[in-house]
Amino acid sequence: MHVTAIIAAGGAGRRLGADVPKQLIDIGGGSMLQHTIRAFLTHPRVSDVVVALPPATEHGELAALAPDRANALQAVTGGARRQDSVANAFDRVPASSEIVLIHDAARPFVTAALIGRTIDAASAHGAAIAAMPSHDTVKRVERGVIRETIPRDTIYLAQTPQGFRRDVLAAAVALGRSGVDATDEAALAERAGFPVHVVEGEPGNVKITTEDDLRAARQRPNGRTRTGRVGTGYDLHRLVPGRPLMLAGIAIPNERGALGHSDADVLCHAATDAILGAAGLGDIGRHFPDTDPRWKDASSLVLLEQAAALVHDAGFEVGNLDVTVILEQPKIKDYVDAMRERLGAAIGVDASRVSVKGKTNEGVDAVGRGEAIAAHAIALIRSRADSSR
Ligand code: MG
Repeated sequence: MHVTAIIAAGGAGRRLGADVPKQLIDIGGGSMLQHTIRAFLTHPRVSDVVVALPPATEHGELAALAPDRANALQAVTGGARRQDSVANAFDRVPASSEIVLIHDAARPFVTAALIGRTIDAASAHGAAIAAMPSHDTVKRVERGVIRETIPRDTIYLAQTPQGFRRDVLAAAVALGRSGVDATDEAALAERAGFPVHVVEGEPGNVKITTEDDLRAARQRPNGRTRTGRVGTGYDLHRLVPGRPLMLAGIAIPNERGALGHSDADVLCHAATDAILGAAGLGDIGRHFPDTDPRWKDASSLVLLEQAAALVHDAGFEVGNLDVTVILEQPKIKDYVDAMRERLGAAIGVDASRVSVKGKTNEGVDAVGRGEAIAAHAIALIRSRADSSR
């Protein structure tokens, strides 16, 4: 069976504040439109794709999305309304096509299973759309006053794909061209007298409309590219008499301590850079500059905690942290468990996900002579949207 997918990307909507139409905004691993096209072009039951683009959009890079199927993809210029874009695209649907799917470019998380269900229902019934039952009670409101409470079990929220037998969509498009306005093709098909069946949509098949939607979309795993990110950190401080030796917020008895603007806790500094680095958020100097009097003698464990909050706000959580501290003396092994507890508390993970190891430099170089202390750290972080997987 020949199935053609039309992707409606003709809108020039700039509601999301970007200087490009929203469907061209990057959501990680490509634009919304690229994700959407890929979902259909790689579907085993979809023969070809026609995408309706805003006027003056570059088409060139679209072919690169699926180089082995580049000739299965064509682009047309969209119209003023969604239905005009779909009508333009419909004119390019091959004559051999039996089922035509229509999908919003702004729903990039459509699954292969949902596409398959829609194809099945369209071929069985002539017209079918993905829709979700409403979990909220729906009120009809006029001038701020409720006029009616609509029984919830009769309310479905329309998604796409919407699928049609070719002759049904031809009738719907003709009705639209005769001057009937509609927000989707299912409405035109209904007006043309065809029963439109509902297939179960998916809660993840969201339409990206607001800034919040965009943020959430960027935190979602896109394929396998967002499942984990790593970062490294390194730090070194001079050891001088008369300073406390702070490691992971614990004062280690020693005649020398690390020199620095804050408490010079190399372990925390390396760990902070590792988690900031993993999230692409710069480094400790950018967030807590040593020219800022607020950080004079500050507890670096507190700085680590603040850095972890920044990483969390950027949509990530720490998976694990491993730190190597290099100092000639004293031995730190008796403090390691307490350090892991404190670091874990600061970054919001169980101590079992934190490792601290002590090394010497065998008497070699400044660290080996006891003139300095150094630390290396590596952290794995992952998108919080992934954590349920
Ligand atoms: Mg430092």
